[in-house]
Amino acid sequence: MTSETTVTQGWDKLSSTLTRLARPEILPEGSPVNMPMTRGSTVLFPTLKDMQKQGQKRFDHEYIYGAMGTPVQHELEKAIAVIEGGTDCQVVSSGLAACTTPLLAFLNAGEHCLLPDSVYSPTRRFAENVLKRFSVEISYYPPSASAEELGSLMQPNTRVLFAESPGSHTFEVQDIPMLARIAHAHDARLMLDNTWGFGIFAPFAHGVDISIQALTKYPSGHSDVIAGAVTVANTEDWHLLRDTAIQLGQLAGPDDCWLTLRGLHTMGVRLSHQARSALQIAQWLKNRPEVARILHPAFPDCPGHEIWKRDFTGAGSLFGFVLKNTFSQKAMEAMIDSLRMFGIGASWGGYESLVLPTSKSITRNFPSVETEGPAMRLQIGLEAPEDLIADLEQGLSVLKAQN
Ligand SMILES: *Cc1c(COP(=O)(O)O)cnc(C)c1O
Repeated sequence: MTSETTVTQGWDKLSSTLTRLARPEILPEGSPVNMPMTRGSTVLFPTLKDMQKQGQKRFDHEYIYGAMGTPVQHELEKAIAVIEGGTDCQVVSSGLAACTTPLLAFLNAGEHCLLPDSVYSPTRRFAENVLKRFSVEISYYPPSASAEELGSLMQPNTRVLFAESPGSHTFEVQDIPMLARIAHAHDARLMLDNTWGFGIFAPFAHGVDISIQALTKYPSGHSDVIAGAVTVANTEDWHLLRDTAIQLGQLAGPDDCWLTLRGLHTMGVRLSHQARSALQIAQWLKNRPEVARILHPAFPDCPGHEIWKRDFTGAGSLFGFVLKNTFSQKAMEAMIDSLRMFGIGASWGGYESLVLPTSKSITRNFPSVETEGPAMRLQIGLEAPEDLIADLEQGLSVLKAQN
């Protein structure tokens, strides 16, 4: 059985870094602990020459014009790059924009992008409805594909191999070092949606070229911000990404960036608690006769569990489970409606617990665990785990009564 330390150690270790990030210099006259807020579109310069000189520094996280980011956004970018282990980061308006911006930056008409079947559905819709219109070829691979299978799906024009680990709703943990070897052997970039693994999976140390974050989730942490980030690890990629982001008008408002920076300082301790509770609740569910399978990377039931043990230093607050197929979708929906401690709503990573049905809401080209029975996804917040378990226990009695 997975110990609590295995799911919390990465978060506990990260806290020392998180508390030091984005702290202003201490001046002789004294300084507040946190970054001051700067709002502004126009930035004024003493001379035209100064303005032109500053304009050339667009790759250096400088303050030039509000549409190219404010000082708070640039501090957030530096903080995210440190946590991800990359060199530079671009903050954008949402987690989805963090997926679409690099896809637009690193793909050209006539090229091919290979996506995992478990990719976040809005990313899939963007590929189908926008990238295809611009003559980018799109195809999918099973998230647990072997090296041989994947090699056979790569094409001479494949320039982006996309990954998301664990996969949306179905939680397949992907073999990122293997994917990196295949991408690089085919002269393609490996792009990873690392939202679940932020802080507990080091993308660049495992061969990723471009790492994506929905800052909406763990970093902001209070369900009141929408923002995203794209991190890279070399100058060529940074220039291409930054120019594309500017040309698309991609940025995040200073208030959202400030709230995300504030959230980052407590992310380690929040997620350590949430990861421990999530493990405890998943262990309780695993022993229930109504449950067929736990979709949590720390459980052997979860596809890619061994890879998670090898590559991650912790686990997150989000997991899924599949009910035995003797239960109807309708009975599961009655159970969800009966829960008092779990909010019904999109997103995750905040301080509060959430529930969503996942079966019947996802598109898959290949068979997946979701087809085995009604399934749902839990986001575990900061509530006491015993209270959440008591709520799930009454929910399961509703499930049985309604079946
Ligand atoms: C939520 C999420 C996104 C999108 O983030 P938004 O800020 O809601 O646009 C992207 N990828 C993953 C894996 C997510 O969970």
